[in-house]
Amino acid sequence: MLAKWWWRFKTEKEGLWRRTIWAIHHRSRAWNDIPVKISVAGPWKSIYSVRQSLLDASIDLYQDITAEEESVKKCSVADRCVLGSHGPSFSWAWARPVLGSDAENQLQMLSVMLQGFAVSAGNDVWKWRHEPDGKFSVSSIKKLLSTVNRINPKRVFEWNNWVPKKVGIVAWRAEMERLPTKCALARRSIPVQNNTCVFCGDYEKTCEHIFVSCQFVQTIWQNLAVWCGIPPIIAFGINDILTVHESSSGSRKIRKVIHAIVLVTFWSMWKSRNDAVFRQINPSATRNLDEIKSVAYLWVKSRAKVAALTWEDWSRFNLGILR
Ligand SMILES: [Zn+2]
Repeated sequence: MLAKWWWRFKTEKEGLWRRTIWAIHHRSRAWNDIPVKISVAGPWKSIYSVRQSLLDASIDLYQDITAEEESVKKCSVADRCVLGSHGPSFSWAWARPVLGSDAENQLQMLSVMLQGFAVSAGNDVWKWRHEPDGKFSVSSIKKLLSTVNRINPKRVFEWNNWVPKKVGIVAWRAEMERLPTKCALARRSIPVQNNTCVFCGDYEKTCEHIFVSCQFVQTIWQNLAVWCGIPPIIAFGINDILTVHESSSGSRKIRKVIHAIVLVTFWSMWKSRNDAVFRQINPSATRNLDEIKSVAYLWVKSRAKVAALTWEDWSRFNLGILR
């Protein structure tokens, strides 16, 4: 959708919105198809920045929206070219007379090259390279993006040695949508009885639901945020939760504890989800919270080598001992 604004910027030359963007963002010194002043915050900056994200998918909005025929400065091809019955003939208008044999030779060569050149009548138009008819559409770019691996190769999963490997693995697989959720099984033609979420009864489409958007899990995340003294967790995807500790204000060690708790929560949620699916054990947010706090305590205490960390301090998230 953001990329569409690139297309509209090029093709809706008379739009008031376009002239407004031009007035705000154009700088005479920088020549650029799509002007942007990075210092001006707002939606236009996001629209401009989408190019960078699309480069990962080998889509370059600079090159993929191309002019069919290029004109030089203000002069159009039609100004120089007259279409006769024997093909185009050219009427040059040089700023200075063509002097010297070099220039004359080059002009000769140019004329030879232009002999078979087909010129179409009409204005220049912008073309979207990825469609035969040259028309940009959101579905076209969506189709391109769907052929690209969804996982951004630049983001490396952050492990945490204060929790066991088996704990981190749940979050790691969830982030890649590699957990055997009901829908993932159904996609592999493995029969599932129903694909509703065992926590809330909604449709369990992806890992994202089980760990992020599910109402049941939301309750757990918000409880943990209060316990850890961090702002309410606003997450739109698994990655948002896995990076919550990065923006926390505590020391490096406190951030590592928060990250460990996040990983333990993924593990605990997945375990409860499986208990509910395979052993018919009713989920309980309180039980999950108790489990997360107590096992995270044992793991952090022994693995971070803070034997003096008491349960009382931990349950109040009073971690002065770690500083
Ligand atoms: Zn749910």
